[in-house]
Amino acid sequence: MYYPEPISKLIDSFTKLPGIGPKTAVRLAFFVIDMNDDDVVDFAKALVSAKRELSHCAICGHITDQETCSICQDHTRDESIICVVEDSKDVIAMEKMREFNGKYHVLHGSISPMDGIGPEDINVPSLIQRLKENDVKEIILATNPNIEGEATAMYISRLVKPSGIKATRIAHGLPVGGDLEYADEVTLAKSLEGRREL
Ligand SMILES: [Zn+2]
Repeated sequence: MYYPEPISKLIDSFTKLPGIGPKTAVRLAFFVIDMNDDDVVDFAKALVSAKRELSHCAICGHITDQETCSICQDHTRDESIICVVEDSKDVIAMEKMREFNGKYHVLHGSISPMDGIGPEDINVPSLIQRLKENDVKEIILATNPNIEGEATAMYISRLVKPSGIKATRIAHGLPVGGDLEYADEVTLAKSLEGRREL
């Protein structure tokens, strides 16, 4: 054991974060020890309250600190068009673009038979329920442009076809294998504009 236990625990915690390797974890842990007490307490409180106070919107699945998110509560937005994304981070990427004025549905993942993830394991049933209960004219399938994202888009489009709801897929131009959240705003706007019917 190179470090006293409290710091090795802190290093372990940092190692669990994405993109943090062992060296960075050590650097961050030593940085925290040198921070002033108030800043450390604020940091710890921010972690705990973000985890405790945030949950998923009862309607769309986006992160919120209320029962339903601010987008679902906004009645000036077009309820007849729903953009389906994999992740809350994708909602934020779409919102930054300021081109879309409909609603969202967050799947929290994608269908991946290889990993044993089926439609029931992500937010597909709640989407289908929502389509039944509301007057939706179009769903835009904005899942990521990789194998799982394409499979998810195809699955959902087939599922909704008999209902007469138009299912569109955002255009390519997004890097294949890339993540929606990393696309720049112009690319994202173009791919939304060039969406095609499935
Ligand atoms: Zn919502």
